[in-house]
Amino acid sequence: MSDSIVPPVDQPPEYESAEPVLYEVQDGVAYVTLNRPQYHNAQNSQMTYALDDAFQRAVNDDDVKCIVLKSDAKHFTAGHDIGTPGRDFHSSFDRRLMWYDHANKGGAEKAYVREQEVYLGMCKRWRAIPKPTIAQVHGACIAGGLMLAWVCDLIVASDDAFFQDPVLQMGFPGIEYFAHCHELNPRIAKEFLFLGERMSAQRAYEMGMVNRVVARDDLAAEVARITARIAEQPRLALQLAKQACNHMETLSGKEAGIDASFGYHHFAHANNQLVDGDYIGGFDGKKMADSNKRQAEES
Ligand code: ZN
Repeated sequence: MSDSIVPPVDQPPEYESAEPVLYEVQDGVAYVTLNRPQYHNAQNSQMTYALDDAFQRAVNDDDVKCIVLKSDAKHFTAGHDIGTPGRDFHSSFDRRLMWYDHANKGGAEKAYVREQEVYLGMCKRWRAIPKPTIAQVHGACIAGGLMLAWVCDLIVASDDAFFQDPVLQMGFPGIEYFAHCHELNPRIAKEFLFLGERMSAQRAYEMGMVNRVVARDDLAAEVARITARIAEQPRLALQLAKQACNHMETLSGKEAGIDASFGYHHFAHANNQLVDGDYIGGFDGKKMADSNKRQAEES
């Protein structure tokens, strides 16, 4: 049995900032910036709900034509928060979807209900944002970070960016939003999952997962060029084009596949709890980082 690293229920999270997400509008573009730099933008629920607020604000603003999701930290994001003082697994939030509160539940129900809302539900909600969204990615885009990038319409990466879903070693088939076989062809997706290795921005580009790869110093300027062009286009036509493309994906089974895989993911959570006494297999941020570092050195 490994030690459970889920914080005790009676231990409230210690947030390092009241602003885990920054918001700014410039020339018709909303810039939504992940802002937990000292934790490599690990996504706690505080950040997730702040992201939802920021996206809602951008949607409500008629002057905003498109949305850029970015980071000013060393990395885009290291994924879901599994080990900072601000980890808020037990906290209740003002929910945005038709789910009941997870905080006072037990067993496998707690993680299932929580992840239906904060992971699966939010990702579906953000994919449907009725304005073009662009992920501006540099550095690490790991696990839950992929979910943020994948729900955006375009991904523009710098040449130092890398993408990785390393959660198979924790007992999972993959992250909660299982779009792997739509973002990559299934054989590449299997390699990505089985090996859990970093995929460079260049390879992600070659596989069709990323729209453009540019030098790190040119990243912001390249995204600005794209957003300037988008901002000239008619709002409704942008939305209709997005909706049509998303609908094609849905018709191809994307959502149904993601929903089915979410069940496998939660079977793995429950199995981890039964076998290891911990729903994520005894991993925390440090153990995951050490494992990733070792793997990167070996490959
Ligand atoms: Zn999960």
